[in-house]
Amino acid sequence: MLSARFKNLNPYVPGEQPKDRVYIKLNANENPYPPSPKAVKAVSDAILSNPDRLGFYPDPDANELRDAIAHMLNETGGCFNNPHAKDELDFEITPDMIFCGNGSDEVLSFVFYSFFDSDRPVVFPNYTYSFYPVYCGYYNIPMKQVPLNADWTLDKEKMLEEANKNNTSIIFANPNAPTGIALKRSEVEEMILKAPKDKVFVVDEAYADFSDESCLPLLKKYKNLVIVRTFSKSLSFAGMRCGFVVADPKLIDAIFTVKNSFNHFPIDFVAKTAGTESCKDFSYYAENAKKVSKERDDFTSFLKAHGFFVIDSKTNFVFTKKDGIAGQKIYEAVKKAGILIRHFNTPGIEDFVRITIGTKEQMDMLKKVMEKI
Ligand SMILES: *Cc1c(COP(=O)(O)O)cnc(C)c1O
Repeated sequence: MLSARFKNLNPYVPGEQPKDRVYIKLNANENPYPPSPKAVKAVSDAILSNPDRLGFYPDPDANELRDAIAHMLNETGGCFNNPHAKDELDFEITPDMIFCGNGSDEVLSFVFYSFFDSDRPVVFPNYTYSFYPVYCGYYNIPMKQVPLNADWTLDKEKMLEEANKNNTSIIFANPNAPTGIALKRSEVEEMILKAPKDKVFVVDEAYADFSDESCLPLLKKYKNLVIVRTFSKSLSFAGMRCGFVVADPKLIDAIFTVKNSFNHFPIDFVAKTAGTESCKDFSYYAENAKKVSKERDDFTSFLKAHGFFVIDSKTNFVFTKKDGIAGQKIYEAVKKAGILIRHFNTPGIEDFVRITIGTKEQMDMLKKVMEKI
């Protein structure tokens, strides 16, 4: 009874969300701090003052949220951690450059559908966000996965070579996951200059707020650049499902066409309300991003001092391993102590664990466990 295309599916497996026991969750890169109290209040006020509102369809295009996102990006430069990011953004991001969807997972799916073809492979690193190969299966798009360099950085030359050979698109997360390494904006620009000009170039900035730079300033010059962002990490709203694209209005129009051919209303009334208020309270999230980044750097030093190999991270997680002990064993030892981290069985990275940065208290507990490993 199954369709022929069904056999191409290879579903993504998210980090566990256990119900049997209360764990400290450091396995899905969620934010350890709650959403802005102002956003929470806006949601409850909006529903309590007018519950009928939930009986009506939301704005299909989420225009109020697009305005709020544009405003937040213009005020922050797209990098909570960098106080100069605002000045580095030397043009205005307008709401018609923004598309919002039900999590950046959905937004990415629309990007794959809009811009990648089944007659040529889309190029991405062998270790990057593991949803990219899943969407290739879903949409029957061939892929070229380029191995990372031995130091876990992107092999920029090889990716460009593959993209030019096939006149096709490149996509990667920057900072990359699960490595946590970021290319500088100038390095991304160099890549865009050498990549096919008539194909989109996609940068997934899920973690950019925890790094030093965003690629948003490049949108001024490069009309084929597509930047994907999410509310799930730096904006503490993984439970809410909201992600967005920033790109030239012509590309945004194309994504709207795909959205309107699939689901008119990816942003529900509650998500719109919470998202809009969150954007206004960006300074709250910027404080949290600073705390997380400081904790990340402390934890990195701790791990190094205890004989772990750690890749210096620009995200809200670290990727680490220790000689002589399997990643699975580290994962199990930590789980026994009531803390969940992520281990991937993927060949080549099975020695590693990926640990989301939590609050200081959570990291202190984790350190006590890791010390004994
Ligand atoms: C978490 C993550 C996403 C997905 O975010 P959602 O908005 O929760 O769907 C996308 N890309 C990368 C690289 C991520 O780490």
